[in-house]
Amino acid sequence: MNAPTHTPVTTSGRPGTFAADTIDEIFVAGQWTRGTGQLIESVDPATGEIFATLHAATADDVDLAVDAGHRAIRESGWANALPHERALILHRIGDEIDNEIGRISRLQTIDTGKTLAETAALARSAAGTFRYMAAALETMEDAITPSRGSYLTFATHEPIGVIAAITPWNSPIASDAQKIAPALAAGNAVIAKPPVWAPWVTLLLARICERAGLPAGVMSVLPGAGHTVGAALARHPRVGRLSFTGGTTTGRALAHVAAEKLMPVTLELGGKSPTIVFDDADIDQAIAGILFGVFSSSGQSCIAGSRVFVQRNKYDVFIERLVAATRTLRVGPGTEADTQVAPLINFSHRDSVAEMVEKAVADGAQVLCGGAIPDDPRLARGAYYLPTVLTGVENTSTICQEEVFGPVAVVLPFDDEADLVEQANDTVFGLACGIWTADYRRAWRVAKAVQAGTVWINTYKQFSISTPFSGLKDSGIGTEKGRDGIRSYMNQKSIYLDLSGRALPWAAPKSE
Ligand code: NAD
Repeated sequence: MNAPTHTPVTTSGRPGTFAADTIDEIFVAGQWTRGTGQLIESVDPATGEIFATLHAATADDVDLAVDAGHRAIRESGWANALPHERALILHRIGDEIDNEIGRISRLQTIDTGKTLAETAALARSAAGTFRYMAAALETMEDAITPSRGSYLTFATHEPIGVIAAITPWNSPIASDAQKIAPALAAGNAVIAKPPVWAPWVTLLLARICERAGLPAGVMSVLPGAGHTVGAALARHPRVGRLSFTGGTTTGRALAHVAAEKLMPVTLELGGKSPTIVFDDADIDQAIAGILFGVFSSSGQSCIAGSRVFVQRNKYDVFIERLVAATRTLRVGPGTEADTQVAPLINFSHRDSVAEMVEKAVADGAQVLCGGAIPDDPRLARGAYYLPTVLTGVENTSTICQEEVFGPVAVVLPFDDEADLVEQANDTVFGLACGIWTADYRRAWRVAKAVQAGTVWINTYKQFSISTPFSGLKDSGIGTEKGRDGIRSYMNQKSIYLDLSGRALPWAAPKSE
């Protein structure tokens, strides 16, 4: 298909002409400007059609944005603004996001394929994140610490300066907000680097922040490739902190960059999370939770519960019911209200999911359902893949050890708690875990024994912005969300203030 060289997207998510609500430029140093980087062609994964194009940012834009960020927080007073003054702007951003939920949701659905219900939930979550960080900011206190002499000792906090926020394509506005809101609350400037596969909603968020009164230059949005724009941003000597969400390989490379610069970094990385069904679990609830946990967002979720462990004495009956329930899931375009499993982000990613399933089959996996592109002619033009249940492989197999990031669950039996914990922890990842059981003591024991940053008991994929989120092992370092999220975007400074007026012992004697 021939694409024009430069096609704007209306924020209603439809190709359009230049109108007030049209985005066709990147946001650098407080200016909307035509990018000079690679041409990004955005394809609607439900139809395969290019719906908009955009010229990406370049490493030169990184320089401009970093300089402007430092200048803006100083000259606009953002860095030194009182907490309630910054909180006011964050509240307004939250309100503006709420006012724009329909628009954000439609734009994100056409860009990523996700269902409208999913993208609306992500927008609501982003609004909540800005409001929570505003409220938390107003309650943060510096401390007067117990002193050891005739002086006051203060433990205070200050903005770091310019923060880099590098995000993946799977949940754009929510992952943006999780970084941008606390970084702004802390008085920093932020440069967001959304991915080439899904740049639009982050640009729309910049519009919203601008409208809410965020001073010019405090935020820039530089869509572009990771190895050019992302790398330049992370390496820039005047970027003081990096908050990254993405794959473990990229995260590890960025950890080296951070080590070189001695730059604080948060890495939210991949997962291969176990979901555990004990023989006393409410099977209907467990199945509903497992379907949602692994197939919502078409499995393109870091916390997808993609390894399903079932106690052996219930294994056969559970598999039969899980497969029957999976077959009822409605696969379709994200714009249709009853769709549960929407297309994947694009065709190349869909093909990589298909390849992983083929390799699993070559390794001995049995496909109990799915394992193919749907043959429904209605879906022929989109990047669809059927929700898939595999069995017959060991936990050590590639399909159980590597992240698929697609609608693929592998079901494995376990004998007892000890066997279960050993298998669940036999992975490089440590992001999330689900436990289904009626025995709360057992749930507690297993929750403590499994190596995961988040554990859900008789539920899955529920989130509260007030609750910290982090990954263990290769799933990351550092924590996002929660009240302390703001502090992680600040430098700590201690101040000693003399109260005695007395000279220190080495002072020269005063002349008579
Ligand atoms: P990715 O690592 O390929 O890319 C993530 C971001 O990093 C993109 O913006 C990309 O352009 C940028 N990037 C790539 N190489 C870079 C480099 N050398 N320097 C700087 N930036 C670079 O990941 P993806 O495919 O976009 O996202 C999927 C991954 O994200 C999955 O592994 C998923 O589990 C993970 N993820 C984790 C969480 C979490 O909170 N733990 C949440 C969502 C997604």
